[in-house]
Amino acid sequence: MITPEQLIAAPKVLLHDHLDGGLRPGTVVELAREIGHVLPRTDAGELGAWFVESADSGSLERYLETFDHTVAVMQNAEAIKRVASECVQDLAADGVVYAEVRYAPEQHLTAGLTLEQVVDAVGEGFEHGMATAERPIVARQLLTAMRHKARSMEIAELAVAYRDAGVVGFDIAGAEAGYPPTRHLDAFEYLQRENAHFTIHAGEAFGLPSIWQAIQWCGADRLGHGVRIIDDITYDEAGEKAELGRLAAYVRDGRIPLEMCPSSNLQTGAAASIADHPIGLLAKLRFRVTVNTDNRLMSGTSMSRELTLLAEAFGYGLADFRWFAINAMKSAFLPFDERLAIIDNTIKPWYAKVLAS
Ligand SMILES: [Zn+2]
Repeated sequence: MITPEQLIAAPKVLLHDHLDGGLRPGTVVELAREIGHVLPRTDAGELGAWFVESADSGSLERYLETFDHTVAVMQNAEAIKRVASECVQDLAADGVVYAEVRYAPEQHLTAGLTLEQVVDAVGEGFEHGMATAERPIVARQLLTAMRHKARSMEIAELAVAYRDAGVVGFDIAGAEAGYPPTRHLDAFEYLQRENAHFTIHAGEAFGLPSIWQAIQWCGADRLGHGVRIIDDITYDEAGEKAELGRLAAYVRDGRIPLEMCPSSNLQTGAAASIADHPIGLLAKLRFRVTVNTDNRLMSGTSMSRELTLLAEAFGYGLADFRWFAINAMKSAFLPFDERLAIIDNTIKPWYAKVLAS
């Protein structure tokens, strides 16, 4: 049995977390007051509950609406820095040792910031967060382009321009239906020519064609969610006999990382319950599964909470958590030597010590 203290102490790796989906409710209230933004609730506790309830509605569109408020309070450099710093502090307090946190710079321009000023503000916030966190943590940025907009090439160029300044990759996000990733092919081809890394939100609300395009047309290094890969697998009730289609086999053979976000998927309707979540079968079949938070504010969650829910549903223990952490660290966009250092110096020694005792 794992104690809650052990779970928090366990080194965790987070690859899929949205900066605008992880604000502290109290911070949203304070920042909104400063700029005169009207919130649906003004008490921090009630506001936190409102975010979770709204996101629980079961529709991706309503889920995305909650971001109108978090994005509204992140329009000046000081606010962005504060949110970025608190994000890193909160993750570190939860035992996350490495995090890639993503956001769309184009959504933070309404008060006059340039794209570069937004990235600089997040970078300064991350540096401050890493310096003041109660435990050691390495945090890096992923720049997201919105799939229904037309700025993906510009954001891809921004990610490359900042590749040695804390930005390790690129992503596209937003409602999948009607906006296939191939709309942004020029951006992905540019990133490939630049030897840059990217992940694509695919196979969350939408099925196999989205995953296939993300990998075989766009060249994604990782899949954001990717839960619908399950549609290309036939299996018996116990999940013992499974047969993989060509695409599922390609994903598993190629060790293409799946950035799975269990609680978030329940809210958007991509899975009915944690016990029904495809992560159970995909982990059993040894896909390169990683566990992530997606939007901590909207899901009222944390990395240790996600792991707790998985432990309850699938009986996972420390050896499984170690596997998830190493899977994620291997899949990070951080340079190889730095990834290896975190695996060898932080993750493995902690688990070796605790598993031996
Ligand atoms: Zn996401």
